[in-house]
Amino acid sequence: MTPATRPSPHAAPRGRASADPSAGDAGGWSAARPVRQAWFVSDLHLRRGDPDGVARARAFVAHAREQGTDALFFVGDVFQAWIGPRSLHDPGLRPFLEDLGAAVDAGLRVVALEGNHDFLMEQNLAGALGVESPGDVLDVALGGQRVRLLHGDAFCTLDAGYHRLHAVLRSTGFRWVARHLPVKVIEAVAVTLMRVAARFSAGKRPEVMDIVDDEVRRTLRSGVDVVLCGHVHKARDERVEGAGRLIVMADFETTGSHAVFRDGRLELVAEDERFAPAAGPVVTLDGPAGSGKSSVAARLAARLGWVKLDSGALYRAVTAAALERGVDLADGPGLGALARVLRLSSDAAGRVRGPHGPIPDGVLRSPQVSAAVSGVSAHPEVRRALMEVQRRASRGVAGIVAEGRDMGTVVFPDALLKVYLDASPEVRARRRLAQNAGEGGSLDQVLAAQAERDARDAGRSVAPLRPAPGAWVLDTSGLDLDAVVERLAERVEAEQVRGA
Ligand code: C5P
Repeated sequence: MTPATRPSPHAAPRGRASADPSAGDAGGWSAARPVRQAWFVSDLHLRRGDPDGVARARAFVAHAREQGTDALFFVGDVFQAWIGPRSLHDPGLRPFLEDLGAAVDAGLRVVALEGNHDFLMEQNLAGALGVESPGDVLDVALGGQRVRLLHGDAFCTLDAGYHRLHAVLRSTGFRWVARHLPVKVIEAVAVTLMRVAARFSAGKRPEVMDIVDDEVRRTLRSGVDVVLCGHVHKARDERVEGAGRLIVMADFETTGSHAVFRDGRLELVAEDERFAPAAGPVVTLDGPAGSGKSSVAARLAARLGWVKLDSGALYRAVTAAALERGVDLADGPGLGALARVLRLSSDAAGRVRGPHGPIPDGVLRSPQVSAAVSGVSAHPEVRRALMEVQRRASRGVAGIVAEGRDMGTVVFPDALLKVYLDASPEVRARRRLAQNAGEGGSLDQVLAAQAERDARDAGRSVAPLRPAPGAWVLDTSGLDLDAVVERLAERVEAEQVRGA
């Protein structure tokens, strides 16, 4: 039975009884059947309520098989919640589980490691489907290299609270209780645990939940050539100086990320459109502050049943975090690293979220943030880090209205419709004053701050503010909101008809 401790990524894998004697056996790792081609994936978070996610996971398995793979490795969090053998009969998961069984029957090696969501998987898949269940760590030999597979939570050692919870959940006592509770009760327990975990993480700095590179280094120095993991939902492929290589797959659920070993090489695919949720149509709204973008974007998105992306709020979130932590606002690489570690996203309600939930407007729109944001957004490292976040927001939604400064020129150059909104400086400043009383004093002050910000946004060398090629330039000075939304909605509908 699993000991009630955090799994050590450095120790040799402990393994469990397995169909393949080399699996989970540190001594026998190199004696495993030689693998010519193998596919790796993590963080699929499959669940009954997301048939599209299950379909994409099935497409991934089918694709790997078509490519002639010998093995499929699932590196944790395959399932959003696994509640013991009863999950084998979950109607939503069944088609995917049958695909795994069929792959095993066809002679593939299929391995499922436990993650922090599906740690109750134990030997369930092994018994029913012949899928190897080595526990939480496994070493495999690939092209003469020793590759350690593990979900990755064990590397996030700064997160003491998580590891205390982890120790309780993986204890023999909890596992016994979980096996004997009625389905309804254990399902309710699983939901509660996810809520508790979310509360636990609220208030923690995002880097507390990140991989600690020194831990990876220790593992690599224990005779391992490559560490391959997931968990933190952020792709990385790096040489760890003097130690070996770290590959972190992003979450398959939103990016289609995975890794492939073939022709003697192991490669990370950070994002794969074929397996990611499909991107919806995009309308871009660019223009200076006060041109009406955010009100128009919100109303247009609501009218079309789409979601809104407030890209300025992403730059504001990075700026707020930099000010809070005292990061030098001239340090582009430092700010870029901060932008990545914040794990920002834009949700269906158009709000910017960190790992703990939506970031309050009061934080994003403080006068200090407004004054510093255009300097922060001028760093190419910051823009690169946020590009991925913005493009991801268009996936798995009916459509997106993206507002900002470079939506049509850089982020979504293939948008269905590109719009550049403008208005006279005075009209814009008055709108700003009315919309955001806390941001500044008199009209003159707002006008001056606005002129300075406009000049910086338009004059910078990366992604300067200007209409995208082919953009529809609309001056909203004399138009009311309803009129602008109406005209845009008509145009979107016309473009959709044309596209169809
Ligand atoms: O739209 P908002 O005023 O919230 O944007 C804040 C700042 O973020 C802008 O002044 C601009 O410097 C930056 N920004 C950007 N590119 C975007 C959106 C905003 O550089 N796409």
